[in-house]
Amino acid sequence: MSHTETPALQQKAVQQKTVVEFSGVAKRYGSHLALTEFDLTLQAGELVALLGPSGSGKTTALRVLAGLESCDDGRILINGDDVSGLPTSRRDMGMVFQSYSLFPHLSAGENVEFGLRMRRVPSIERRERAAAALALVGLDAHYGRFAHELSGGQQQRVALARALVTRPRVLLLDEPLSALDAKVRVQLRDQIRRIQTELGITTLFVTHDQDEALAVADRVAVMRDGRIEQVGTPEELYTRPATPFIADFVGLSNRLPGVVRHGFAEVHGVVLPLLDPSHADGPVRVFVRPEDLTLATAGTSPAGTSLAGTVLLSSFLGSLRRTSVQLDQGGTVVVQHDVRDRPMVGAAVLVRFAGAPVPVEAAI
Ligand code: ADP
Ligand code: MG
Repeated sequence: MSHTETPALQQKAVQQKTVVEFSGVAKRYGSHLALTEFDLTLQAGELVALLGPSGSGKTTALRVLAGLESCDDGRILINGDDVSGLPTSRRDMGMVFQSYSLFPHLSAGENVEFGLRMRRVPSIERRERAAAALALVGLDAHYGRFAHELSGGQQQRVALARALVTRPRVLLLDEPLSALDAKVRVQLRDQIRRIQTELGITTLFVTHDQDEALAVADRVAVMRDGRIEQVGTPEELYTRPATPFIADFVGLSNRLPGVVRHGFAEVHGVVLPLLDPSHADGPVRVFVRPEDLTLATAGTSPAGTSLAGTVLLSSFLGSLRRTSVQLDQGGTVVVQHDVRDRPMVGAAVLVRFAGAPVPVEAAI
């Protein structure tokens, strides 16, 4: 498949039909506003990642949507109907949480059957549907296993099968991968995305892990202090962060002191294009991605195009290398570059800017 075909295929899976809408939702715990002026829509078949630091209100948003918490203001619409007054059991959602929530005294198959039993589905159909759901997550051979006989990743796959077996309208995942080790986390992340796309199920995926959010989502909604700060495709968030908070939270960024003048940022004598050329003049902090910097040998760059420094540390990361440079004018930056370039610790180098427009925030 060529690269140009991929976006078209992905767009086909997501239809322009709003399934979930949060409209001006607020949620208070005592005097603490866990959600405020919270607006978000999910289109049919779309996977939206709700990304934010711990305590930003992600779980609260998911619980309000599921009906596990009431909202203090605003409305929740599903397929255009206000469900704010409906109990969880009537909202038709499948849920998976971070901690393994399988019933320990039931087998994997019985766990998956549980929701169907509650809905009084006859036993033969129950068993067939549970087996099919377990097959979907690749665990058809584990029907009779108990939670303690399954690995963490397998338990989460059973939890996913249990959430999907009732064919919910919406799938809610709250940090479903956080308790797993790195390799299993990536495998299960990809499996969730594959199954989600196959079923075309509208999904809200809560995570604090930006790599996970960017990798798995059609769109990412970044939360901060109970609000959404930016919603966009992973590419939009990464290349056009709306605020310094997003620039800092999504992807790695170096921060450098600079001054804005007439739509450009100047950093130690190097002039950089601004992401927002209308930014007010004055002292700022400039955010620069490690991949938007390159290393050059000292003495090879004309003044005003690069910063001189000394190599502090260089880390081999398999497919790339990241090198920290102590700048002569103060501060350190991380440069991402080809693994075949192996800068020596202590070597004098020049850090060059590749010319990508930078976001800035006013210096305090
Ligand atoms: P996240 O999932 O992004 O880590 P939460 O939605 O769990 O954040 O919590 C958001 C804020 O609301 C936090 O400050 C948290 O302490 C507070 N909070 C969450 N649940 C409760 C609760 N049941 N009672 C009181 N405060 C709560
Ligand atoms: Mg949470």
